[in-house]
Amino acid sequence: ALTVVWLRDDLRLADNPALHAAAERGEVVVCYVLDEVSEGIRPLGGASRWWLHHSLTALGASLKERGMELILRSGPAQAVVPRVAAECEADAVFWNRRYGLAERTQDAALKASLGDGGYAVRSFQANLLFEPWEVTTGSGTPYKVFSPFWRACRNRPAPRAPLGVPGSLNGPVTESEDLASWRLLPYAPDWAAGLRETWDPGEHAAQSRLQHFLAETIDGYARARELPDTEGTSRLSPHLRFGEISPFQVWQLAGADSGTAAAGDLTVFMQELGWREFCWQLLYHQPDLATANYRPEFNAFPWQQPVEEELDAWRYGRTGFPLIDAGMRQLWHTGWMHNRVRMAAGSFLIKNMMVDWRVGEQWFWDTLVDADPANNPANWQWVAGSGADAAPYFRIFNPVTQSKKFDADGGYLRRWIPELRSAGNVHEPWKEGVSGYPAPLLDLKASRDQALSAYQDLRQA
Ligand code: FAD
Repeated sequence: ALTVVWLRDDLRLADNPALHAAAERGEVVVCYVLDEVSEGIRPLGGASRWWLHHSLTALGASLKERGMELILRSGPAQAVVPRVAAECEADAVFWNRRYGLAERTQDAALKASLGDGGYAVRSFQANLLFEPWEVTTGSGTPYKVFSPFWRACRNRPAPRAPLGVPGSLNGPVTESEDLASWRLLPYAPDWAAGLRETWDPGEHAAQSRLQHFLAETIDGYARARELPDTEGTSRLSPHLRFGEISPFQVWQLAGADSGTAAAGDLTVFMQELGWREFCWQLLYHQPDLATANYRPEFNAFPWQQPVEEELDAWRYGRTGFPLIDAGMRQLWHTGWMHNRVRMAAGSFLIKNMMVDWRVGEQWFWDTLVDADPANNPANWQWVAGSGADAAPYFRIFNPVTQSKKFDADGGYLRRWIPELRSAGNVHEPWKEGVSGYPAPLLDLKASRDQALSAYQDLRQA
């Protein structure tokens, strides 16, 4: 028996149920398809393309160590996957499930056509701890609020134990494209220097990051995760996004290996994984989460047409508000931003600049290495107030208060904004006038009042 394993957002050998089941049957061909043409599949942003290139390189190397090739193909998956199966005379095609509507539609169509062609086709649960359709309210509807959702998850049977790397892998080699020809890396200009300095994509690096987190960081996580100047969080997000590590592996190791961590730290960390599950079940039930307001009343919100220079000031960290600028520069340089600062930067764009959340979502989609089809839109809608279980409309993050509270000594601000390194009042540089650093883009109080009244109008309408 020979099985084609079609990898997608599961670029790992360990705890890969499709690969595991294929190896148990016999020979295996592992293939990845770059599909930039099928309708409805969101094209990857720049930072994600960079990550994908390196992740595929790492996966190819791991397979090579086992005497296997990673087969790379591009084109519409609908045509490419059956072609690969036919070429290598496979009798089965296996994959791990995806949850976006376009992806599910594509998978269902392939399952039907491959099945008609006589192939055995199987799909597996690999990337979410709980299948989105499994967790529903008593009346069978999806949860709209996180806490009861997560309680319901925790009341279900515990997530399964992760699988190992298949003991033996072998199979024939078929034609593969050259990864470099996909041009996933930036060239002219090469803006990826900061990404290279910061990240090490791939399954091995994901495992070491998890080990490091459990050994060094989880202790005190509940508090330290709020402080952008510390390495207080796991930074597993891009690894989880590309499936270099599975949530089952994280779940089990965090439960088993964090002997010294206080129960509270562990609960909060597990809950963050729960938010990931929640975002994915939102996307499953509302496939247009990245383009449509979850709460339709927000369709009437008076977003303002952004002025391009002002938008650029936000994108590139020149708003004159240090916390926002530090965060946006961290994002531009490293492809990642601390969660607290993501919330503040999102709130600033939406509520102080009155720009539609979708504009920010798209920028993050393009620049985050962890840009995630569910987590990104769900969190943007949460900040906007248009989402499920959203932040209340009157919650407008004040960037000055936030930085005084979470970066009291200004270490984070000084790290990302060299102009402020010798400033006395790093939280409010306009009070002393720092040369080379922009004056505030807007009046915090006036813009806040304007947003509040727009939100109030919406509520009354
Ligand atoms: P940790 O604190 O170590 O958390 C562990 C894991 O839990 C993360 O890797 C992530 O998979 C998950 N997680 C944590 N917080 C959240 C959350 N709020 N929602 C969903 N999952 C969460 N996260 C993404 O993975 N991709 C995105 O595109 C993304 N866009 C965001 C946009 C905005 C406006 C905001 C406010 C948040 C966004 N987040 C996104 C959520 C969060 O900021 C990141 O998951 C987190 O900062 C990643 O760092 P970490 O791995 O060190 O997190």
